[in-house]
Amino acid sequence: MTDCIFCKIIAGEIAADKIFEDDKVLAFMDIRPVSRGHLLVIPKKHTDDILQTDDATAADLIHKAKKIADAAVKAVNADGFTISTNKGEAAGQTVFHLHFHVIPRYTGDGLNPWQHQELEPKTRKEIAEAIKKNL
Ligand code: AMP
Ligand code: ZN
Repeated sequence: MTDCIFCKIIAGEIAADKIFEDDKVLAFMDIRPVSRGHLLVIPKKHTDDILQTDDATAADLIHKAKKIADAAVKAVNADGFTISTNKGEAAGQTVFHLHFHVIPRYTGDGLNPWQHQELEPKTRKEIAEAIKKNL
């Protein structure tokens, strides 16, 4: 994956403001943060997204993201945090190397991305059944 920007950061070919590194995981500051303290946590082993990632790698990543998020909130005096990952262009994924966003949140920051919708209970149940069949 020589053209992957995050692999290049791991290899030291592109600079990044690194926060944490071990043999499996790297965390660094997001270059275009959506909030003060926004950082990314990535596996060193390239995978395109969460679905391509083996469970042990995903578990290790979230384990470390949790600790780093806690440290970030304390460091920037935030009120909470959002951890998220985008899968696919439709979800807003622009870098196709798995990453968890750690986004410190501030009371009233207006970053809530979700537009809740009303849905008929019947439709909700149908969707639930369809998801269950695909598990
Ligand atoms: P996503 O849109 O979920 O794929 O997120 C990609 C994130 O990577 C965005 O928040 C970008 O600002 C961030 N990003 C892209 N290039 C770099 C870079 N060279 N160093 C740090 N963050 C980056
Ligand atoms: Zn990569």
